Amino acid sequence: MFKFFKLITSKYKILLLAFILILIPGAIISYMSLRSINQKADNLEAKYIGTVNLVRDKLESEVSQLEVNFRNRVIESNPDTNEPDELKVWLRDLRSEYPAFKNLFLINDEWGLIASYISYDWNPYPEMPSLFKPQAQNIFNIAEKAEFMNRNFNMAIGHYKNIFNYQITDQEKALLLSRIGRCHYKAGNYAKGIVEYKKILELKDKNLVIGSVPAIAVALFQIKDGYKGLNDIENWRKSLIDLFRYLLNNPWDLLDGDYSYYLKITSAELGEYESRDVADLNLGDMDSMRAVENRILEQTSFLTFIKLNMISTIRSDFKDRSPSESQSRILSAEENNSVMQIGYFRLPDKFQLAGIFGIGYEFEEDYLLSNLFPAILNTIDLGSDVFVGVLDKKDSLLYLQQNLPISNYLVAESFSRPLLNWKVALFDPDGKSVEQIVGNEQRLYLILFGGILFVMVVGVFIMVRAVIHESEVSRLKSEFVSSVSHELKTPLTLIRMFGETLDTGMVKDEKKRREFYSIIRKESERLSHLIDNVLDFSKMDAGTKKYRFEESDLVKVVRDSMEAYKFHIRDNGFEIKSVFPEEKIELKIDRDAISQALLNLLSNAVKYSEDQKFIQVEVNRNSTSALVSVTDNGVGIAKGELNKIFEKFYRVTTSEMEETGGSGLGLALVKHIVEAHNGAIDVESELGKGSKFTIVIPLKIVPVR
Ligand code: ADP
Repeated sequence: MFKFFKLITSKYKILLLAFILILIPGAIISYMSLRSINQKADNLEAKYIGTVNLVRDKLESEVSQLEVNFRNRVIESNPDTNEPDELKVWLRDLRSEYPAFKNLFLINDEWGLIASYISYDWNPYPEMPSLFKPQAQNIFNIAEKAEFMNRNFNMAIGHYKNIFNYQITDQEKALLLSRIGRCHYKAGNYAKGIVEYKKILELKDKNLVIGSVPAIAVALFQIKDGYKGLNDIENWRKSLIDLFRYLLNNPWDLLDGDYSYYLKITSAELGEYESRDVADLNLGDMDSMRAVENRILEQTSFLTFIKLNMISTIRSDFKDRSPSESQSRILSAEENNSVMQIGYFRLPDKFQLAGIFGIGYEFEEDYLLSNLFPAILNTIDLGSDVFVGVLDKKDSLLYLQQNLPISNYLVAESFSRPLLNWKVALFDPDGKSVEQIVGNEQRLYLILFGGILFVMVVGVFIMVRAVIHESEVSRLKSEFVSSVSHELKTPLTLIRMFGETLDTGMVKDEKKRREFYSIIRKESERLSHLIDNVLDFSKMDAGTKKYRFEESDLVKVVRDSMEAYKFHIRDNGFEIKSVFPEEKIELKIDRDAISQALLNLLSNAVKYSEDQKFIQVEVNRNSTSALVSVTDNGVGIAKGELNKIFEKFYRVTTSEMEETGGSGLGLALVKHIVEAHNGAIDVESELGKGSKFTIVIPLKIVPVR
C-alpha cells in the first residue's frame, strides 16, 4: 500500500484526496439517513401501538361499563321467582333492554338452567302420580289385559269407560280418555278416537300429564294423527297448527328429551304439509311461529352445551367464592372450532332464597360490532391518516371503521377481557403496512448509498489502473532511452572508426576503401532511419504530425520504396520476392508516410529472421480495400504478444533477441500511419515459422473521378 502511494503522482494524489473529501462524508450521510429511517419506522410503529392501545382500552372499558349497568339492573329487579314462565318473560325483557347481551339464562341451586323460552332441568315436569282407588284399579288392569293381550279393543273400551262410574280425578280422566282414544285408533275407528281425545282438551285442570308429557300435548298430537288417518286434510292442517302453536307457547322442561322429540316430529310434519300442493295453503302466522321455533331450537342447543360443558365449572366457582361477591366472570369453551364466551355472576340473597343462584349471558357480537363500537369510535378523533378495525383470532376482518377494501393492518392489539379472541387494529387509508409507508424513502436512500459506494469503488479502480499503466509507461520509456542511445552509439562508433581509418590515408587498397565507405553509408542510413522514427514518433505522440494526402499509385509507391531498400536487404543475404498487380491502385495517400511504414516492416523482417532469409512483398486489392503485405520466414511472434507489439515502446524481450537493437517504436508508427489513412494493420504469425504483416487501406478514400 505504501509502495502504491509512492507510485502515485501528485495529480492522482489530489484526485484521491477529492474522492475522500466528497465521497466519504456522502457515504456517511446516506448511512445515517438510512439509520434514521429505520428509527422513523420504529417511532411510527410505537406511535401506532400507543394509539391502538388507547382505542382498545376505551372499547374495553365501555363494554365493561355495559356489563356493570346490566348487573345493577338485574340485581335491582324483582321477578316472580316461583313462576318459570314469569322468569322467561323477565329474561326476554332484559334481552330487549340490553341488546349487547344474548342467551340470558338463570342457574338454580340444583344447577338447572332456564332461558327466555325454555328450561333444562329447572323443575322437571312431574311424573304422573299413582292413580285409582283399588276397585277402579282392578278394572283398569282388566281393561289393559283386554287391550294388550286379547287385543279385544271394544271390550277394553267398555272396561275403561266403566271406571268413569267411580269417583275419579281429572288426572285419572285424562288417562282413561287417552286409553279409550287409543283403543278406537287401534280398532281403526279414528272418528270416535278423536272425540275422546278432544274431551281431554275440555278438562278444567290444564296441568295434567300423561307419562311425563302434558296431557294437552298428547291429545293434540293424537287428534292430528286421527285426522291424518281419516285423510281429512283440512282438519289435519288445523290440528297440526294447533299442536305446533301449543308446543311453541308451552314448552316443558328439556330434561328427558320428550319436548324436543315432539317439536321435531311436529315441525317435520308441518314441513311435509307446507311442501304439498294444497290450494288453501293458509298457514296463518307461520313465519312468526317458525321464528319462535328457531329461537327455541337455538336455546335448546345453547342450554345443552352449557349444561354439559360449563355448569360444573360455574358451580365450583360459586362454591369457592364468598356468597356476597357478585363480580362477573368470563368463562370460555371451545365449540365447533369457535370459542364460546359466557359471562356470569352470582345473584343477591333475594334470588338465592328462592333457589336461583346466578345469571349468565353471552355477548351479542353483532350489536357490539355494528352499534356499540361505531358509536364509541365516533367520539375518538384519530385524524385522517388512520382508522380502526376489529379482527378475529385468525386475523379475519369483523369490522372496519371505513368501508374500504383493505386487509393489511399497521398494528393490532388483543382485547384482554371480555372479548378474549378479538383484536383491535389500526389501518392506513391506502392499506399500507408500517414497512410500506417508510419503504419508499428507505429504498431511495439505499439506492443513493449504493450509488455512492459504487462510484467510489469504480473511481478507485480506474485510478489504480491509471497508476499501474503510468508506471509501466515510465519503465518502458527508460528502457527506450537506453536502447535508443545504444542504437545511436553503434553506428556512430563505426562511422568514426572507419572515417578515422580512411582519414589517415593508410588504406591503400581500393577495394578495402570502398568497403569502408559502404559501411559508413549504411551506418549513416541506419542512423537517419532511427532519427526519422524518433522524430516522427515524437510528433505523433504530441499530435503535431501532419500528413500530406495526394493522389498516388500505391503500387508505384511500394515499388519505389523497395527499390531504395533492396540493396540493404540483399546485403544482408536475403532473397526478396515482390508480387504486384498489373494495374495501378490509385489512392489518396501520404507517400512518404506509407513508404516509411513499409520500410519499418521490411527492416523488422530483416531484423527478426535468422536462417531462413526470405522476404515477400505483395500488393493487391479486393472489393473494399488495398492490401500491402510483408511476409518473412523469421522467428515469429508468440500469440500472447500479438496485440501488444503495436504499443509504443513495447518490445518482445527474449534472450535470443537481446542483441537485436530496436526502439519499440516501429510498429507503433506503422499503426499510427495506417490509421491516419482510415486503415488497419493485421498480423498473422507463428513462432519459428515467420510473420505476415498486412496494411489494409480502404478504397473509399479514392476520390471519385
Ligand atoms: P523494435 O523492432 O524496434 O523492437 P517494433 O515496434 O518495430 O520495435 O517491434 C516491436 C516488437 O515486435 C519487436 O520487439 C519484435 O519482438 C516484434 N516484431 C516486429 N516485427 C517482427 C517480425 N517481422 N518478426 C518477429 N517479431 C517481430
